Amino acid sequence: MAKSTQKDSTIQEVLENLYQIQKVHSQIDSINFIKGELPIEVQDAEDYIEGMKTRLTNFELEIDTFDEKITERQKIKDDMKSLIVKLEKQQNSVKNNREFESISKEIEISNLDIELSDKKIKEFTEKKNNLILQIEELKAKIDESSQKLEVKKIELKKIEEETDKELQDLELEVTKLSATVDENLFASYQKIRKSYRNGLAIVSVDRDSCGGCFSKVPPQRQLEVKLRKKIMICENCGRILCYPNEAEQIAATESVEEPKKATSRSKRAKL
Ligand SMILES: [Zn+2]
Repeated sequence: MAKSTQKDSTIQEVLENLYQIQKVHSQIDSINFIKGELPIEVQDAEDYIEGMKTRLTNFELEIDTFDEKITERQKIKDDMKSLIVKLEKQQNSVKNNREFESISKEIEISNLDIELSDKKIKEFTEKKNNLILQIEELKAKIDESSQKLEVKKIELKKIEEETDKELQDLELEVTKLSATVDENLFASYQKIRKSYRNGLAIVSVDRDSCGGCFSKVPPQRQLEVKLRKKIMICENCGRILCYPNEAEQIAATESVEEPKKATSRSKRAKL
């Protein structure tokens, strides 16, 4: 890379400006990081609750089915009981044994039907009660999750309200600062920045190592970074290197730097 910059800025100034831009960018990144997790969490919680509500609806439909089955069985029982009353009356006026026996058989079968219905009604009622318990548990879970979701939503809204303005201001700062940096250099900076998850494109040399990838920076290269005659990059990760003192200098001279900005070609920072 090692691009030469515009004549009216020294390499030191360029590095300082880039480092400054990086600082603002890192602030933007950390805000987006906090924000970035919450919307996903809110979405996940909403999906989870939606899933539980679907299960709840299914359970309620199942209860309806059991209710229908119980009613059906109850009706069979009632019918059988009426039939038995009728049959018993008939039995009183039979003409012979055979007729009597035949009616007895019918009564017996009807009683078996009643028994079976009782068994079924018991079975369905047990299943239904079991479902009612599950529904109660599910409703409690939905309530609990909904409450947690509301807290998260409020938190997200608060963060958005707080950070929207801050982000806008920071973006504006990047735009202003990037106007002081050579267009091509800024484009390279942006390219490096986008290729790393931590968004660091310019890093300091710390304890003989690159502050981005922590690989050793050879002494000759370190010297060149110190000399600030050209833009040096890390051989391993390609990040722009600056020297630690510079970072401190930047902090110290930050306010003094202001008037210098309008000198170079402008480049809008698109983030
Ligand atoms: Zn590196």
